[in-house]
Amino acid sequence: MSAPSAKVAPPAITIVEVGPRDGLQILKSILPTQHKKRWIAAAAAAGVREIEVCSFVPAAVVPGMADAAEVTRYATTIPGLLTTALAPNAKGGQAALAAGANKVTMPISVSPAHNLANVRKTHAQSIDELRRVVDLRSAQPAASRAEIEIGLSTAFGCSIAGAVPERDVLALAEKCLAAGADRVTPADTIGIGNPAQVKRLYQQLFAAFGKSRIGGSHFHDTRGQGLANALAALEVGVTSFDASLAGLGGCPFAPGASGNICTEDLVWMLEEMGLSTGIDLAKLLACRDILRDGMPNEKLAGHLAEVGLARTQGGGRVAAARYRTRHRDAAFFFQWNRIIAERMLSVRTPRRVLRVGLVGALGLISLMHTIRAADSGTSYSMSGKFSRDAADDCALDTASRFGIAADHRTTRDQADRT
Ligand code: ZN
Repeated sequence: MSAPSAKVAPPAITIVEVGPRDGLQILKSILPTQHKKRWIAAAAAAGVREIEVCSFVPAAVVPGMADAAEVTRYATTIPGLLTTALAPNAKGGQAALAAGANKVTMPISVSPAHNLANVRKTHAQSIDELRRVVDLRSAQPAASRAEIEIGLSTAFGCSIAGAVPERDVLALAEKCLAAGADRVTPADTIGIGNPAQVKRLYQQLFAAFGKSRIGGSHFHDTRGQGLANALAALEVGVTSFDASLAGLGGCPFAPGASGNICTEDLVWMLEEMGLSTGIDLAKLLACRDILRDGMPNEKLAGHLAEVGLARTQGGGRVAAARYRTRHRDAAFFFQWNRIIAERMLSVRTPRRVLRVGLVGALGLISLMHTIRAADSGTSYSMSGKFSRDAADDCALDTASRFGIAADHRTTRDQADRT
């Protein structure tokens, strides 16, 4: 995988790293500000183009977010990065806009009981807070105007109220969009959604408001359904996915459960499917060292990190393309070797030992190349151009199969127009 360049089409998929906000806010450890900055810079260098860097909440409530303004200001200096900040109310929204956030995400729970517990407001009060942030945003210069997105928390179920009817999600989405939000994103706050439910809800949201008004997806892996839900969302046309490095987050009421879907695992899945995220997985995995260094007592999750990239990269469709190329190379060697051997054996000289020796040597060379060609861990190729071209072809195939249009507008593009 290579870093995005001006000559390459923008990635079909947007990965939003929400670890610095959603991942850290619940942990006992506090990641030092310098580590947060290193993480954000390293993630951006790995190809992550949107990061939710913090939450503008009182430091007395979430001490780990006391440096929100400093972290936001730092993130906005990184070229090409869309800096998102969470704000539960107008006061937080004002601070986020003042710090220069490109996007402000405001959470409003579909479940009224959860909204009261989480942000201590009724729906009407939260919508009122949204309107105030929209007014503040509208007062910004047009060239640097921030986006405002609503995270529709508990859209798939609530820890207090239980089931959440889909019509309630649609009703709240309509109110938020009418109040001036640019987009809404349904969030599986407690990780209770299932793939069929995900497809159903997105199809209804798309039908009611159009794809351009639905921001992306936000899944937690509390019950191990995170990637399955992300795949379901992908299949109905969602192209933006929130995720946390090392699956950070956890839940105090579900011991052992991980938090958001793990960024590395999600990127691996999508890339192996032939879709482009624009993210360099080796660089992304290296970001975990920053977390380990800054929070040595926190457990880092993630399947890919456990098994290691060297033993896994190149599976799926890319491996199939490599296999075809290697197979062709091996066949070429076999043919070449056979012709030479026939020529040598046909020469009538008394030095039969030399002939047999030469044929044997050629046979050995052929065998060595065949073994190298069959080794899935190497990048051997006679033609020297197998993997990137083949992977790009695969990406186009898969993108078209998932209905991802060539002119798909990324969040970054949308931000540029807002
Ligand atoms: Zn979350």
